[in-house]
Amino acid sequence: MIQVVAEGEARAHFEELLGIVGECAALPLRLKADKIATAKGSGPGPEPPSSTLQSRMTEMITDQRITATLEIATSLTFGLFGRPQRFNAAFALDVADGVREAGVALTIHEMWENYTAQGLPGPWATRFGPAHQAALGVEAAVMSELAGHALDRVASVQDKSAGRAVTVLDYHWQYVVISPASSGAGATRNSYSAARQDRRPLRSFTLAGATMTDPLNQETITEAVKILTANPRATAGITGELASRIRNQIAVTLKEDYYLQEKEPELGLEKEDAKGKGADLGDLRSFVDSTPVTNDAPHGQIIITIPG
Ligand SMILES: [Zn+2]
Repeated sequence: MIQVVAEGEARAHFEELLGIVGECAALPLRLKADKIATAKGSGPGPEPPSSTLQSRMTEMITDQRITATLEIATSLTFGLFGRPQRFNAAFALDVADGVREAGVALTIHEMWENYTAQGLPGPWATRFGPAHQAALGVEAAVMSELAGHALDRVASVQDKSAGRAVTVLDYHWQYVVISPASSGAGATRNSYSAARQDRRPLRSFTLAGATMTDPLNQETITEAVKILTANPRATAGITGELASRIRNQIAVTLKEDYYLQEKEPELGLEKEDAKGKGADLGDLRSFVDSTPVTNDAPHGQIIITIPG
C-alpha cells in the first residue's frame, strides 16, 4: 500500500501529480482514504507509456504486507528519506511542466525508495543506501521508457554561484537542469522551472602513466578538479580500469565526500557508511562511466561535460 499524508494545497498538488503519474502508467490513480488506489472497475490500460511505472505502482498498491508512507511537504526540494518519506509534490509538478519524464521519474524514486526501505531489515538509517540504489534503478527505467531513449542518472550537482541553487541532474546522455524561478518563495507552485539540456564537451584528461600499483597522478586530478570548480554545472565521466579510484580521488579533492577520505580513496572502496552501501550513487559530480574504452588510454580517462 502507499499511504499519503497531505492536507489542503499540498493534497491538491499531490492529486494533480497522481493524475500525471496515472497517465504515464495507464492506471487511473486517485487518493482514497489517504491511500493510493486505482479507480473502481478499471484495470491497467493496455499500452502504458511506461510499463515499469505501471508494474511498480501496481506492486506497491496491491502489497498488503508493506506500506510505503509519503508525507507531502513544501519546505524542501525533491524528497527526504525517512518514515514517512517527505516529498514536495509542487516541486515535482514544476519539474514535470518542463520535463515531464523527470517529474514522474523523481516521484516514483521517492515512493519506491520508501517502499524498499520499509521492507528491509536492520536499523532504519542503514536502509537508505540500498533503497536509494533501487530507487535510482526504477527512476532510470521510467525516465528511459517515457523519453524513448536510455537515461540513467549518474551524477548531480548544485550550482550555487548565483544565489539560489540550480540543480543539474546528469542522466548520462542528457542533462535536466532545474532552476528556481526569479520570484516565488519555493514552497508554492511555479517556484521552479526545468529544462532538458545537451552534453557539451569541456575538457578531457588521460591518466596514461597510472597503473594499478602506482599512485594516481594527483596533478591531473587537481587540474580536472580546477575545471569542475570553475564550471559549477559541469560533471565528469571516468572510464578505464582505474575509474573507481579516480572518481573517489576527485570526490575527496572536491571535498564532496569526507567519508571517502577517511576510508582511503586509493583502495577504491565503495561508500558503505552509516547510510548503507549505494548512498552516494547518482549524487556526486563524477561517475564511473562503463562505456567500453576503445582508445589507447585504458587506465583512466576523465571526460568533463557541461549542460548547454
Ligand atoms: Zn534517493
